[in-house]
Amino acid sequence: MSTAQTHVLAYPFPSSGHVIPLIDLAKALVSRGVLVTVLVTPSNQPLVPTNHSPLLRTLLLPNPNLNRLVEIVAFMRENHYPTLINWARNHPSPPSAIISDFFLGWTLHLARDLNVPRLVFSPSGAFALSVSYSLWRNLPENDNPEDPDSVVSFPNIPNSPVYPWWQIPHQFRLAERGGPEWAFSQENMLLNIDSWGVVFNSFLDLEQDYFDHIKKELGHQRVWALGPLLPLTEPENRGGSSTVSCHDLIEWLDSRENSSVVYVCFGSRTFLTSSQMEDLTRALELSGVHFVLSVRVPDERHAAQDHGRIPSGFGDRVRGRGFVIEGWAPQLVILSHRAVGSFLTHCGWNSVLEGLVSGVVMLTWPMGADQYTNAKLVVDQLGVAVRAAEGTEKVPEARELAKRIEGSVGRRKERVRAEELRDTALRAIKENGTSQKELDALVKQLHDLKHQQPNTI
Ligand code: UDP
Repeated sequence: MSTAQTHVLAYPFPSSGHVIPLIDLAKALVSRGVLVTVLVTPSNQPLVPTNHSPLLRTLLLPNPNLNRLVEIVAFMRENHYPTLINWARNHPSPPSAIISDFFLGWTLHLARDLNVPRLVFSPSGAFALSVSYSLWRNLPENDNPEDPDSVVSFPNIPNSPVYPWWQIPHQFRLAERGGPEWAFSQENMLLNIDSWGVVFNSFLDLEQDYFDHIKKELGHQRVWALGPLLPLTEPENRGGSSTVSCHDLIEWLDSRENSSVVYVCFGSRTFLTSSQMEDLTRALELSGVHFVLSVRVPDERHAAQDHGRIPSGFGDRVRGRGFVIEGWAPQLVILSHRAVGSFLTHCGWNSVLEGLVSGVVMLTWPMGADQYTNAKLVVDQLGVAVRAAEGTEKVPEARELAKRIEGSVGRRKERVRAEELRDTALRAIKENGTSQKELDALVKQLHDLKHQQPNTI
């Protein structure tokens, strides 16, 4: 290996929705000749292919094995920081930049210690990050805590979004404002804002106004839109191996009509509550549609949570028109099948992008985090989705939910928009597309940085 090699540390937050796109980014950098070391833990190490390229490497670090965000990040800072400093200082081709998840604000200190720039990796879109930055910088108050419908507005963000207070991420709504957990989240976000640059899994044509806004807010132009980050090969193994046989699933889908199937999935982390599960399964029964339903199976770490299970007898009652997956679904394979017409989603950002590149109509059921913002984007601004439900607060009764599910496969206006946007998304990642040009520009800047004076970063 040459010592002139540009070497990037890619440091994901250890949760599927964060690891999956950062690995795709790592592969994209490798395809441009950058050496990338992905910092992995035993639980996500299997997601990095071992035979991809000699330029794609891993460094194994201890598993947090904890549940709460704050505890996981604190563990990583305490346990990974010293190892990383040592490793980087003794490496024959020391890292020239760190690209780390937006939950890992503390890596700005690590980057400063190593005298390299830190780039924030945002697994959320530019609209959602605009809202987060504004929240933690401007600290809006809930003027009327007694009123369940009290709202927060963001007049400085394009399209002036307004949210009911309960839709604001819970870390911000913590009763104890200024308490240790709240302060931790604020410090994290401010360290992101102070970092050298930001890399998004999104594309310019999707969120142009919000990219312009972020650049203005940050006061610099070091913002890159590189998405949708997708695997170039083997979509069936993305994020994990499927619990069901892909062959059986494809055979099942092959025998359905074009755009007739509803795919239902709430991402890698969300467990429906018992009452949400009851409403959903009852609505699927009533709807009469053909569907693929994917649900998480809780392990012992989630034993204390309320999580709904598929009701007994459900499989028999929907036999012939429902395909149920309890575990990990090959989501990209399902979404890209011609039989799938709509996607009932919790609006995690990866799911939104995967829905977009597949040209399906989305039915939104956001649950928390950035998902309310993502739902607003796809329903109100992009016109490719319709609302199904919101959290536990706004779930229509089963007959109404069934009507929305059934109606989603026949939505003409949204389908036309979804197909247009699919083409735009695919253009962005083809040769000479905007995301490819942004990737080239980022790589060039990373190469140039290697030759800069240390104190200019
Ligand atoms: N995913 C999958 N199979 C599943 C559940 C999730 O492949 O059964 C993938 C999905 O395609 C997406 C990621 O896991 O890439 C979930 O990320 P997202 O941002 O949508 O939601 P999160 O899990 O972070 O809430």
